[in-house]
Amino acid sequence: MTDHSSIRLVIHGGAGTIERSKLTAEREQAYRQVLAQSLIAGYTVLAAGGSSIDAVIAAIVVMEDSPLFNAGKGSVFSNAGRNELDASIMDGSMRMAGAVAAVTTIRNPIRAAHAVMTKSEHVMLMGQGAETFAAEQGLEIVDPSYFYTQYRWDQLQKAIANERVLRDHDADSDIPLPSNDEKRGTVGAVALDHYGNLAAGTSTGGLTNKRFGRVGDSPIIGAGTYADNRSVAVSATGTGEIFIRAAAAFNTAAQVRLQRISIAEAADNTLAEIAAIGGDGGLIVLDATGNFAMRFSTKGMFRGTIGDDGIAWTSVFSEAETPVKHFAVSFP
Ligand code: ASP
Repeated sequence: MTDHSSIRLVIHGGAGTIERSKLTAEREQAYRQVLAQSLIAGYTVLAAGGSSIDAVIAAIVVMEDSPLFNAGKGSVFSNAGRNELDASIMDGSMRMAGAVAAVTTIRNPIRAAHAVMTKSEHVMLMGQGAETFAAEQGLEIVDPSYFYTQYRWDQLQKAIANERVLRDHDADSDIPLPSNDEKRGTVGAVALDHYGNLAAGTSTGGLTNKRFGRVGDSPIIGAGTYADNRSVAVSATGTGEIFIRAAAAFNTAAQVRLQRISIAEAADNTLAEIAAIGGDGGLIVLDATGNFAMRFSTKGMFRGTIGDDGIAWTSVFSEAETPVKHFAVSFP
């Protein structure tokens, strides 16, 4: 493999009905800060000649460790009052993939998904089997209480009271959610390394008040995550059941590979198919020449990108918004 490509990382922190009027300047700044830190973490890997897979992990771990996003530390609660986390990762060169579903004690599910990909014969492990495997691989295991946040607990009580299953970013619905309720979603990353290899990863706590045992699109290869050097790397966020039914990530990659259409068009086609069967959300898409798209059918999507120049750009609201520039020097 030759060292020919530009590097690129694109991330999302969930799509939803994000409204400027409901997001205070401080909260917005806090989200953007974590997005920028995530971008810088992935960029640091890529700029040093690291792989796209390692960049995806580095970027996602930052968001998993933040209480702001619905993944890792900030995960929402199931109807059993537990945090049940899902994650997946895929390498575009050999289309290797790994995933974990419904795990309750793995601090960084994206690392566990990677271990499944690289250290097991399998693609997906779930529940206790995944947790035992992660422990055997030396990954950090935490008490389930690590994932407890008051804010998420309050969200669950509201959802139970209203007999609703809530997508994190559906907080603008008519349901009286806790005040200060901004949309915080699933997280994902797609990366292109110096060697022209693509990778994608996605991590989530799923839906507030989901049935325990429910698995969404995020850990399903082809639905929430897909990467193929012949086309694109994709990570999705949105109404998981519908994204599964639309095979959202694979669908997007297949259009690019077989129909030779632009990545933005492919993403929009997928989102239109999803809308037609009752869903919405967003997709980040990156090809092996560094072209990327961040498309969504919701009011907003936390997102950002960074390339060769090391300048992190973040956006939250509509496509028309001018992204905010963050310089790497502002991060220790
Ligand atoms: N797709 C995720 C799920 O259904 C939720 C999200 O993206 O916010 O689990």
